[in-house]
Formats: sequence, C-alpha cells, structure tokens
Amino acid sequence: MTANPKPEAGLEVEIEAFGPPVGGEPYLLTPGPLTTAYSVKQAMLRDHGSWDADFLAMTADMRRQLVSLAGDDGSNYACVPMQGSGTFAVEAMLGTMTPRDSRTLVLVNGAYGKRITETLRCLGRDHVVLDKGDYLPPRGTEVADLLSADPAISHVALVHCETSSGILNPVAEIAEVVKAHGRKFLLDSMSAFGAINLDIGALGIEALASSANKCIEGVPGFGFVIARKDSLVAAKGNAHSLSLDLAAQYDYMEKTGQWRFTPPTHVLAAFLEALRIHTAEGGIAGRGARYANNRDTLVAGMRELGFETLLSNEWLSPIIVTFFNPADPKFRFDAFYERMKEKGFIIYPGKLTVVDSFRIGCIGRMDASVMRRVVEAARASLAELGVEHATPPESALAERAKLAA
Ligand SMILES: *Cc1c(COP(=O)(O)O)cnc(C)c1O
Repeated sequence: MTANPKPEAGLEVEIEAFGPPVGGEPYLLTPGPLTTAYSVKQAMLRDHGSWDADFLAMTADMRRQLVSLAGDDGSNYACVPMQGSGTFAVEAMLGTMTPRDSRTLVLVNGAYGKRITETLRCLGRDHVVLDKGDYLPPRGTEVADLLSADPAISHVALVHCETSSGILNPVAEIAEVVKAHGRKFLLDSMSAFGAINLDIGALGIEALASSANKCIEGVPGFGFVIARKDSLVAAKGNAHSLSLDLAAQYDYMEKTGQWRFTPPTHVLAAFLEALRIHTAEGGIAGRGARYANNRDTLVAGMRELGFETLLSNEWLSPIIVTFFNPADPKFRFDAFYERMKEKGFIIYPGKLTVVDSFRIGCIGRMDASVMRRVVEAARASLAELGVEHATPPESALAERAKLAA
C-alpha cells in the first residue's frame, strides 16, 4: 500500500460524502488525531517558505478566521498560534496569561483538568483545586463560594469538554460566576472549539486554547490561543519559557507577520483547507449538528446492544462518549479493540479510575452512516468474543447514579 495514494477518478465524490479514508486505513474514532478529509492531506504536498508573503498571508488568514469563530470581530481578541500539540498551547496560555504572583482556581473533573494543575505546578504558579473526581461537573454555586472565600484567587481555569469522560462542562454557568466576582477565566476548549458555539466576549473569557487536530479536523502540529489583546500586551514578561511565550509570539507576529520559530508550514496549509471545509459545512452550527447526529446514532445503537453510557443524555458531549465495559467476563477490552480494528475502526481506552470503560469519538471526517457501521462492528465483535449482552456490572450503574444525585 502506498503511503499517500491519490484517489481514483470518481472517488473524490465519495470522499466528500464521508466515504472510507483513502488508502484503506481505519477510521480514527479518537478525539485527535482524527480522520481527515483527503483534500486536507493533499494540501500538505506543497512546501512553503516561512517568511514568504504567501505564507504570511496564510497565517494572517487563519488567525482572522479563528477569532471570528470565537465570536469576536478582531477588535478585542487576537489569535496566537503555538507550535506543538495542544498541551503546548495550554501551557503557553497558563504561563503567559497568569502573572507570577497569581493564584488560579482549577476546576478538575478528569485527566485534562489534572493536567492544568500539573502544568501550574511545573510553572511554579500558585493554585487551588476543586476536584470533582472522574466526571462530575463543577457547578456555579460552589465556584462562587470558593471565590468569595478567597479574594487572592485571580484566575479560574476550566476544561470545556473533558475529553477523558466526554462531559460537556457548564461553561456559561461558570463564566457568569467568574465575571460576577471580577476574576479572569481561562478555558481549555481543545476538543470543543469549532463544534460548540461560544461567544468569547459575552462570556468574558480572558483566553482559550484549542488545536489544529480536533473539531476543525486538521492534522496535528500546532495549537492556538485566542486571548484579549490588551491582556496579551500586559502579559509581557510573565512567561516562564522562551519558546512558550504567547506575548512574545503575539508581539512578533503583529510586527512581522511571522512565527517566532520555524512554523509547521504543511500543517497550516492543511488547516486552512480544513477551515474551508468547516465553513462549507455551515461553520460551528453545521459541524456541531453533524457531531451531535454522530453521537445520537452511536449511542442509540450501542444502547440497543446493551451498552450503557457513563453520562446521562443531559451531559453527553457531541465529541466523545464513554461506555462501560460489559459485565460478561468474556469481554476483554484488548480483544474487543483488535476485533474493531480488523473491521476498520480504531476506538479508545477509557480513563475512569473507578470502573472499566472505553470511549468512542464522534469527531472527524465521518457521518451517521459511518456510526451505524461502528455499531454493526461492535455487534459482530461482541459475538466473536462470545459476549451475549453488553450490560455493564451493577457497580458501574451505581457509579452513574451519583451524577443524577
Ligand atoms: C486533546 C486535548 C488536549 C491536548 O492534548 P495534546 O495531546 O497535547 O494535543 C488538551 N485538553 C483537552 C481537553 C484535549 O481534549
């Protein structure tokens, strides 16, 4: 199999209609890297000079489009891309947007919230943590109590969609409280930005981070932060790091149009094609609707097989869904994974600490017809393992009851 085969004539149409990935590779039902459109991969076949006018125009175009997706017209917010994976962008956001004498309240309900805490620890930035466990959502009232009790808290950090459980955290509810208390709100919107509508100015968000390979459906290679322009200017000197200094990247980019260090040129070219497709699909509304339809199709089909979701419908994001492992001892995740892969689908292990689970992503270049095939593949894989019904153990259902309580 050639690494990057060109589609046969006629196949382009099918690709546009969410046909299987070219080259026979499996669908990635993982929340990034994810399955990308052929034209996104194709955009990487050209080399660009990092200081060439064409490339500078590409960078400017991307930055403008991303600020607009966040709901700002460019008067108050700017986009600063950062080389590396999403975590590099979050670290740059935390290190640059929080002054050295700041104290951040981190709202944790999963692995990515924990990573924010870990990052602040590495940066030597003071922080306090509200840890809700594996997946319970932080609520506005408890955040309000914490902020009232501790006037030294200057920032609040939250993960938008906690990709480790798939919960969509109540961003507007938290933003309102943070704003009312006059603190600054930092959002890891990595796996939500581009699929879930958000008005950055109305929510009073100081900065948010996302990356190329999530809901915009580009390939991995850079992240970006959308932040208040005045704060980016004021943040000069905060950063702990030379390369992860957002204020310096912003300043240099405003002055020269260039990235400070070698930019991921091919990744940016692919990302612009991904943005073109995003717009053609109807922007955030269109993208979000397709993902929601993917999720609904997946969840309905899996529930028919006996699988249960960790979260009740109210909290299910259209990004990724956690399912409990079946109680049947014949079910082993590794074997199930291999059977699913043979059928063309890469799924994702779970990240819960208390019960066994796995996850299936709804994002990437696929639609509901693909999700129906995922369910069929799950049905066949269970049969091959000799699992008759996918009902989870009582302990899992008891765990889930906590969310309703
Ligand atoms: C993907 C993701 C990240 C970044 O992960 P990387 O592996 O560094 O790209 C951060 N936060 C959330 C919520 C994510 O989903």
